[in-house]
Amino acid sequence: MTDMSDDRTALDRARDDFRAEVLDAGLLVDAGEPGLYGRSGVFDDLVDRIAAFASTGFAELGAERLRFAPVFPRREFERTDYIVSFPHLTGTINGFVGSEADHKSLVTARAAGEAWDSWLSPAETALVPAVCHPLYERLSGTIPGDRVYDLRGFCFRHEPSNDPMRLQAFRMQELVFVGDPDAAHEFRTVQCERQLRGLVELGLDARLQPANDPFFGRTGRFLARNQLADEAKLEVIVPIYGDLDEGTAVASGNRHGEHFGDTFGILLPDGSAAHSTCLGWGLERIALALIRTHGVDVAAWPADVTRLLAPAP
Ligand code: AMP
Ligand code: ZN
Repeated sequence: MTDMSDDRTALDRARDDFRAEVLDAGLLVDAGEPGLYGRSGVFDDLVDRIAAFASTGFAELGAERLRFAPVFPRREFERTDYIVSFPHLTGTINGFVGSEADHKSLVTARAAGEAWDSWLSPAETALVPAVCHPLYERLSGTIPGDRVYDLRGFCFRHEPSNDPMRLQAFRMQELVFVGDPDAAHEFRTVQCERQLRGLVELGLDARLQPANDPFFGRTGRFLARNQLADEAKLEVIVPIYGDLDEGTAVASGNRHGEHFGDTFGILLPDGSAAHSTCLGWGLERIALALIRTHGVDVAAWPADVTRLLAPAP
């Protein structure tokens, strides 16, 4: 029988080894903080090809493609209640709006090696934690019927780690359904299975399982239990470190119920709040899971995988 500390050490070592392997292969470049990387051309192409694979697999849904910046209005960030549930993952933006005297104090503090952040103040923006968050405000009002959006972009989550699967800045591809409650429910059930099948076709040893978000604190534990019991979140899990952990979520399907419809005043023609669902693909995680499965030499991957990930003609 192994004790917990041995397990943790072995897992830490496995993460360090995988991190070293992708850095040595030149696929990722250490960008100076845990969970912050530069991407090589090969890795970046791979991410693009995975994103294309994910969206073309669902082309018949006729999703509207929209791209937002990785920062969005702070007041919209406020409305999502993200800070209540995930204060530990949050990233907000500060700017300098002081006087010349304030600037002088800042520069003096900095020259003395002291902290200078206190001369900054909250800007109008926050970092996007999930690519669907900048969408909802845009839909406020009455929508004529069910709609599907194809979104992609960088997300920020403050979770520094030695695990190359856990980044602070990473790209997410999402398909977001907004509309009728039953259709939203059905969308998650049906499309999540397809999401899983697509990832299995790429050779990943993937399975779908109910999951919970990492809500903060004691109230958070309660929210997590409810989310799990309602199966509001499903994750596609891939074993990256053998049996040293439970596997890593490379994609997810989330039922929000009327949460965003209610919060952002997105209404159906009968005046009730729209329901929403999103399917998310963690693009770097999928790329790394594929690298773990098929090897660091991307050019030598099995032909059937490469064919599925073919660059768009
Ligand atoms: P979530 O909204 O938490 O379900 O995230 C959607 C997907 O983004 C997850 O299934 C992961 O694949 C990916 N993801 C979430 N957090 C991270 C992270 N810290 N680093 C890399 N990918 C992540
Ligand atoms: Zn989302």
